[in-house]
Amino acid sequence: MRAEATVDLAALRANVESLRARTGRSAVMAVVKADAYGHGMVPCAREALLAGATWLGTATPEEALALRAAGIGPDQARVLCWLWTPGGPWAEALHADVDISLSARWALEELLAAVDATGVPARVHLKADTGLGRNGCQPHDWPDLVAAARRAEAAGQLRIAGIWSHFAAADEPGHPSIQAQLTAFRDALAHAESQGAAPEVRHLANSPATLLLPESHYDLVRPGLAMYGLSPVPEVGSPADFGLRPVMTLEARLASVKRVPGGHGVSYGHHYTTPGETTLALVPLGYADGIPRHASNGGPVQVAGKWRTVAGRVAMDQFVVDLGGDRAEVGDEAVLFGPGDRGEPTAEDWARACGTISYEIVTRIGVRVPRRHLHGWAGAEARG
Ligand SMILES: *Cc1c(COP(=O)(O)O)cnc(C)c1O
Repeated sequence: MRAEATVDLAALRANVESLRARTGRSAVMAVVKADAYGHGMVPCAREALLAGATWLGTATPEEALALRAAGIGPDQARVLCWLWTPGGPWAEALHADVDISLSARWALEELLAAVDATGVPARVHLKADTGLGRNGCQPHDWPDLVAAARRAEAAGQLRIAGIWSHFAAADEPGHPSIQAQLTAFRDALAHAESQGAAPEVRHLANSPATLLLPESHYDLVRPGLAMYGLSPVPEVGSPADFGLRPVMTLEARLASVKRVPGGHGVSYGHHYTTPGETTLALVPLGYADGIPRHASNGGPVQVAGKWRTVAGRVAMDQFVVDLGGDRAEVGDEAVLFGPGDRGEPTAEDWARACGTISYEIVTRIGVRVPRRHLHGWAGAEARG
């Protein structure tokens, strides 16, 4: 084994249970887009369902269709996808009984053409832009979108299953946009309901809102990051403070250990020079595996029982650490990040070292790193 990411499915289930305990009557949508933030979409989806999530959320329709193709049927989970582009797989989504988010009239028109062609009615979630300024329907277009969806609902072409929106800054407690978005969401809902819409689920809360804003929970919450055991608000609390445990551990085996003299340049550009005679260890992971090049001379890694720092530049496939006077053998373990309770760095430590967020650290771990899923219940069932 060169390197692997282990994914602790027992931790993932416990995280989902911990989130459920917080949200009471609101259902949980496990957000499994982007290969479950790099953790493996299908195994994570199955475990989240076993732990009581009843919805799955993806960005693209292709991701949603992959869940259905893996055998996760409508009897096990409603699946919602929200990032559609013209010419998208509308008919496939209808046949797979996938819920569809609509933010604009063009998408409704494309969907209705597919409904007419297939004879399968749609389940849609109308998305309001309550202030994020990304996807979603602006307030001035909302009455028109709602009216058109209601006409299609009356004609039996679709059901308005959800009304929803997304926060801009739920991870910044007290940010003025939070109350403004809550108000705008209430207004968008009130208008749709006044026009006869009767959504099964109204939903707004991502991970930070799930943890910090109970008034945003409505019928359904949509945690992503928190389910993977990382804190969406590291300044407010650690994973443990929120009853969460990091799910992914990234490890590699040292590919070289050698003595070098003082004054030796290390890696491309010689941005590190050995301060004296020392031992250099080679970690066989690089930016092609998702280790940020911004971690050059900064990323933390546990080797031979201690935290070290990436020495010099992260290359495509490998980086170097300076062990100083310590010893290690080729094949020894280097732990880049994990839950932190064996003294290893966490994904949050990497995020801080690279000026990014832990979302990006775990999500970008590349396809060359195999995922090993531990403690799965769904897998145990499948094996009998
Ligand atoms: C990614 C995403 C989520 C989950 O966000 P987290 O901050 O990871 O909980 C929820 N809703 C939408 C629309 C998203 O795109």
